[in-house]
Amino acid sequence: MKLVKHIANLGYGSRRQVQWLFREGRITDAQGEVLYADDKVAHDAIRIDGEPLDPAPGMLLLLHKPAGVTCSTKDAGRLVYDLLPPRYRLRDPVLSTVGRLDRDTSGLLLLTDDGQLLHRIISPKSNLPKVYEATLARPLRGDEADVFASGTLMLESETTPLRPAVLEVIDATHARLVLTEGRYHQVRRMFAAVGNHVEALHRSRVGGLSLDGLDDGRWRMATADDVVRLF
Ligand code: URA
Repeated sequence: MKLVKHIANLGYGSRRQVQWLFREGRITDAQGEVLYADDKVAHDAIRIDGEPLDPAPGMLLLLHKPAGVTCSTKDAGRLVYDLLPPRYRLRDPVLSTVGRLDRDTSGLLLLTDDGQLLHRIISPKSNLPKVYEATLARPLRGDEADVFASGTLMLESETTPLRPAVLEVIDATHARLVLTEGRYHQVRRMFAAVGNHVEALHRSRVGGLSLDGLDDGRWRMATADDVVRLF
């Protein structure tokens, strides 16, 4: 791919705007030699105003999503993309959330621009466990773990039962739920189906990944080890 297109795709501007960066001599190699739009140079060797380029396509991010932020590109209100560098929203291929968390749900959200990886993560075939910590409005009645584990629970307006899910009771109004699928508002609807109401919801794990030290609203780039740990 031509350098100008590669850089434009990373969100640095339209091709025309990136052409100007070349003309102004602001795009160089690591030694400061000016580069030209048709040059063929490895991604890691390119500098703009002396700074390394944003990551090449094929990135995976871990974000600690705060409650009150939407997994959307153009909703009213605060978006998960507002927590990331502004250029990340302009990339091609686009950086998408891997599934969604509700606006009021906090916790681990993955984002990637790698379509194959995204599908592998969300595919029910991958059986990737997702762990949710729920705070409930009413005390648990005692049979929820059996109901959720049964593999027969049908949610309203669905045509297939939910997969068996594991519920760990923490105390009367707190529980940990492990799911291997991701239907719309699934956790909230599961507790509604057993006569309860989720007051707060937090996702603590996706596969082998957790938030380990990532504060609310912060993000980090996944490492190669993270990708191995994920599956
Ligand atoms: N289940 C829900 O109800 N909400 C989420 O955000 C995730 C899972």
